[in-house]
Amino acid sequence: MICLGIEGTAHTFGIGIVNSAGKVLANSTRTYVPEKGGIHPREAAQFHAAHARAVLDEALRTAKIEIEDIDLVAFSQGPGLGPVLRTAATAARALAVWLDVPIIGVNHCIAHMEIGRLTEGARDPVALYVSGGNTQVIAFDAGHYRIFGETIDIPIGNCLDVFAREIGIPHPGGPTVEKLAKDGKNYLPLPYVVKGMDLSFSGLMTEAIRRHREGANINDLCFSLQETAFAALVEVTERALAHTEKKEVLLTGGVAANGRLREMLKLMAREHHAKFFVPPKELCGDQGAMIAWNGILAYKSGFRQSIEDTKVKQRWRTDEVEVTWRRS
Ligand code: AMP
Ligand code: MG
Repeated sequence: MICLGIEGTAHTFGIGIVNSAGKVLANSTRTYVPEKGGIHPREAAQFHAAHARAVLDEALRTAKIEIEDIDLVAFSQGPGLGPVLRTAATAARALAVWLDVPIIGVNHCIAHMEIGRLTEGARDPVALYVSGGNTQVIAFDAGHYRIFGETIDIPIGNCLDVFAREIGIPHPGGPTVEKLAKDGKNYLPLPYVVKGMDLSFSGLMTEAIRRHREGANINDLCFSLQETAFAALVEVTERALAHTEKKEVLLTGGVAANGRLREMLKLMAREHHAKFFVPPKELCGDQGAMIAWNGILAYKSGFRQSIEDTKVKQRWRTDEVEVTWRRS
């Protein structure tokens, strides 16, 4: 069986093609970069619509298949930005109806987890999912993917990007902050906020911007921002690991590209005798292959949806998803 997965929740529009053996045949993406400021949902949706055809053609070419070879269409049903979700859903419905194949809506956050389980061979990890739009610590428990901890305000990727933008670094800021941090020598105290199992990054971001305006050394500031934010992420992941007594840690999402975060999380995992996994960069960020693979998992487990069930869910919570493809 071949599944075509459409991703569209935020900046990236993607189409992935995956077969039921878990082989990724194609994974094409285009990413909307706002001219200035943050993401504008309607503009992003228009960008996705304008590039959808080219991405589809590219994916089919790469997979060396005809569109008629597709047996199943999956798409990101949520969570995400309304106009962007609706664009991907519309494309998915049109394709499924035209090809006369089943359609399955996939939860974006869980898809990040599932592609990591597929390609890295992690069986039952505690996942730290860190991106521009999400920050969650997720693990499977009693039939559901539970959120063990999450941000109560902005996601970590957004924290890095907005900080960067405010100090004149172009989008996306995360990679540049990482580079600048390498030459940081002094730790400047910044607000470290963990509330129970939840995280907060907005105070940290505001204070880092303020310190920049006061003339703090840019390298020290980037270094301190990373150390503070990542320590909080690792703390919450560590507690989820200790509580669940799982033996694996999976890092995913766009921010998983960060070498320092990888290093810190890997050290923590080692102290708990847990295995540490990070998917390759092209499977950490947003893309369609993870959607396609999760579609296959759901379909093979007997899950079915009608077109009426495919309404997008902007605030679809990870723990609301019926995980029909996993028992333990
Ligand atoms: P995503 O939302 O999953 O597409 O990932 C995009 C986010 O990852 C943006 O917020 C980027 O700034 C962030 N990002 C990418 N590379 C790095 C890096 N090396 N360090 C920190 N953040 C990064
Ligand atoms: Mg994502």
